[in-house]
Amino acid sequence: MNQYTGRIARSQATMKREGIDALCVSVGSDLPYLTGYRAMPLERVTMLVVPAVGRPTLVVPGLEAPRVEVPDEVFTVTGWAESDDPIAILDTLLADAGVVAFGDETWSRFLLELQAANPARMFKPASEFMARLRMRKSPDEIDALRSAAQTVDGVVDEMATVQFSGRTERDLSREIIERTIAAGHDTMDFWIVASGPNGASPHHEPGERIIEPGDAVVVDFGGHQDGYCSDTTRMFVVGEAPYGFDAAYEVLYTAQAAATDAVRPGVTAESLDAVARDIIAEAGYGDLFIHRLGHGIGMDTHEYPYLIEGNDQVIEAGMAFSIEPGIYNPGEWGMRIEDIVAVTDDGVERLNRSDRVCRVVD
Ligand code: ZN
Ligand code: ZN
Ligand code: ZN
Repeated sequence: MNQYTGRIARSQATMKREGIDALCVSVGSDLPYLTGYRAMPLERVTMLVVPAVGRPTLVVPGLEAPRVEVPDEVFTVTGWAESDDPIAILDTLLADAGVVAFGDETWSRFLLELQAANPARMFKPASEFMARLRMRKSPDEIDALRSAAQTVDGVVDEMATVQFSGRTERDLSREIIERTIAAGHDTMDFWIVASGPNGASPHHEPGERIIEPGDAVVVDFGGHQDGYCSDTTRMFVVGEAPYGFDAAYEVLYTAQAAATDAVRPGVTAESLDAVARDIIAEAGYGDLFIHRLGHGIGMDTHEYPYLIEGNDQVIEAGMAFSIEPGIYNPGEWGMRIEDIVAVTDDGVERLNRSDRVCRVVD
């Protein structure tokens, strides 16, 4: 049995339990998760229809059909010709399905046309449904995340030996992209280099600011390797750290480590956020930690579960997510430390293993 057979069986079991007659997923990661096929986000209809019982059908533009590999006849492929009406094909496939769970990532036009084709059919979001399937990773998936993490860890260590001052953020980010691809990533998804006061903006876009001595620099980057994502943040300081930085970094380091050590099956997502937040707040920086503690990761950079106040989701073995507290001092500097961790049967494995200390560079 290949992994896709198992995943489709699990989705059909859930559908039967929840009274869902069919599941539709389009472009985005739900599709490769269930079939191994990743569709281009074309205006032409690509849709996997999974009935509650029986073999799923993947409806694809005819010209894309040769790209589809079908492992062990897990699903049937229906290619539609340029003059066919793909909505009519889907409507026929859905037949008398009354309740359809519909994937998050698809063009709204497809959904609107399907609704118009049969107004009696009820569509509901497949978000939670797919999240529950994808949240707990298989050992193979954890292996892939671990490999991706090792690649970016190596790049972090390389970056500790390069010159920062006198270069623009953009120039440095280009070097990170090149090194990460050279080290084994297939694509890069983001490359944050935020120097000096720019560090206080968590998702700063690297620009023309020239890095200078005395800057703290937030480096947060990640991409895809063999279908799975990396995401890590490390801190660099050019020469002497700016005023107030070192004291805050000690607090951040302690908070990040404590939250990581608290990860194990049975705790809640929000309790992990609280572990880091309490330490940071107690040291007086509470107002400067302006985002959630972390996010799940897998085929997408941001997946369930989200580690945030109000989320009582129970952490289970197999989940993988980031632990990334930050302290942002507007107009001065910012800092964040980020690791991806995987939940084991009785605790936690850090997938990013590079040293969490702040690195001093020239
Ligand atoms: Zn982020
Ligand atoms: Zn990140
Ligand atoms: Zn992240």
